[in-house]
Amino acid sequence: MSDLEDLYKEVILDHYRTPRNRAKIEGADVHLHRDNPLCGDEIDLYVDIEDGRVTNVGFEGRGCSISQASVSMMTEKLKGLSIAEAEELANTFKSMMQGEDAKDEDALGDLLALQGVQKYPVRIKCALLGWNTFLEGVKIHNEKHGS
Ligand code: ZN
Repeated sequence: MSDLEDLYKEVILDHYRTPRNRAKIEGADVHLHRDNPLCGDEIDLYVDIEDGRVTNVGFEGRGCSISQASVSMMTEKLKGLSIAEAEELANTFKSMMQGEDAKDEDALGDLLALQGVQKYPVRIKCALLGWNTFLEGVKIHNEKHGS
């Protein structure tokens, strides 16, 4: 098990050190700033949505490795998904972090690296910050566009 945990740690550190899609998107359809005061994590999430599909995702942020790696992995996963697929993935990820067995390991992929965080309840909020921000952003967007 320790080899696997080391591998997972590598995945998290890689995303923390070299965040993917770390960029502001000017005029994004969704822009939300959210934080996790318990840990001091902050993100700005930018999402472009076209014809019910996530066409671009970017973020800016600072905070612990778990929060920043999780949002970096999230941006890679969400690009190209339909809103319904993206919400489903977010909910699958959330249930994994809340201690359920990972239902769809293929869909989660690298995100399984964060499963070990569920052992540290105070860090779960760190891992979920990006995802909750995304779900909230989609909800606001849908309300605005009446779908
Ligand atoms: Zn944190």
